[in-house]
Amino acid sequence: MNMSEPTQFINAALRGEMSHDVPMSRHTSWRAGGMAQRMYRPADLADLQNFLQHIAEEEPLIAVGLGSNLLVRDGGFTGTVLLMHGALSELRLDGDTIYAQAGVPGAKLARFAAANKFCGAEFFVGIPGTLGGMLAMNAGCYGGETWQKVDRVQVLTRRGELRVRTPQEYEVGYRHVALKSKSEEFFVGAWLKFETGDVGAARKNIKALMDKRIASQPLQLPNAGSVFRNPAGNHAAKLIESCNLKGMRVGGAQVSEKHANFIVNIADATAEDIEKLIEEVKAKVMQKTGIDLHTEVKIIGEHRNHE
Ligand SMILES: Cc1cc2nc3c(=O)[nH]c(=O)nc-3n(C[C@H](O)[C@H](O)[C@H](O)COP(=O)(O)OP(=O)(O)OC[C@H]3O[C@@H](n4cnc5c(N)ncnc54)[C@H](O)[C@@H]3O)c2cc1C
Repeated sequence: MNMSEPTQFINAALRGEMSHDVPMSRHTSWRAGGMAQRMYRPADLADLQNFLQHIAEEEPLIAVGLGSNLLVRDGGFTGTVLLMHGALSELRLDGDTIYAQAGVPGAKLARFAAANKFCGAEFFVGIPGTLGGMLAMNAGCYGGETWQKVDRVQVLTRRGELRVRTPQEYEVGYRHVALKSKSEEFFVGAWLKFETGDVGAARKNIKALMDKRIASQPLQLPNAGSVFRNPAGNHAAKLIESCNLKGMRVGGAQVSEKHANFIVNIADATAEDIEKLIEEVKAKVMQKTGIDLHTEVKIIGEHRNHE
């Protein structure tokens, strides 16, 4: 570890990589946003545990996977980003379950499950995030949701204690997951359960789901998937479209012409452009329909100081 680090980071036993002032545009699918003051990419689970055991209690921490549901404001994140993607990547069979670590991407998990004759993991292929992000968001699509498949999860507490938890210890809903007890924790892995079945059918299903995505989503432009949660009994995309907001712009951010619940970065959008557009869409939908949209994407960090 580099001796110019603040004292809380000096720990010769750490094997991961610490970086400073990292543009989060490189680590978020919107390709926009401010810097992370520090970013730690652990070498493996034991290294992350060691890191957490030595980090100062007051240091703000956030886990980031593939940043496919995340906007970091232009003033940046003051604290340390724990980068899971490319770090916690173990993926293996464990009895009748699949054990995957938090950094494993959805597509890899779906293909591994199909190759091992499991069915019902296909939907993961369409979610361009990591297992950690999918657990945090209860990500899902086409009738499948992450937590339907969870047998148990593995977490690290803020102080670096490794624990195994059952789904009953969480409040789980539509794009919502909260630990019932009060504890700051990060998902580091999970044991997932699937039905066994026909590999050929699962593979075909993966291909069909990918084709459907390509046809309906603006995947050629940087985006973060659905910006707003669907209100009960309604669809955010339909509401936005009914207000004629497709194509609406703020700076380099635009409501996608292809899918109204996507905001695309068409010309070097700032996080501020994106956030302002989110606010404008929300206000217009409220004005016209009386429905209050809530964001699915997570927004963190500080606003840029305009002098
Ligand atoms: C083109 C596109 C299509 C999408 N389609 C879908 C879809 O069909 N269904 C759907 O549900 N989502 C969809 N998404 C959104 C996104 O992929 C999911 O929310 C995904 O679960 C985010 O994973 P991530 O690793 O990128 O998380 P990040 O964006 O990195 O983080 C998201 C949140 O999870 C937290 N988090 C991340 N890792 C951990 C961890 N290890 N422990 C604790 N908290 C953690 C972060 O702190 C943050 O609050 C889509 C996104 C895109 C860009």
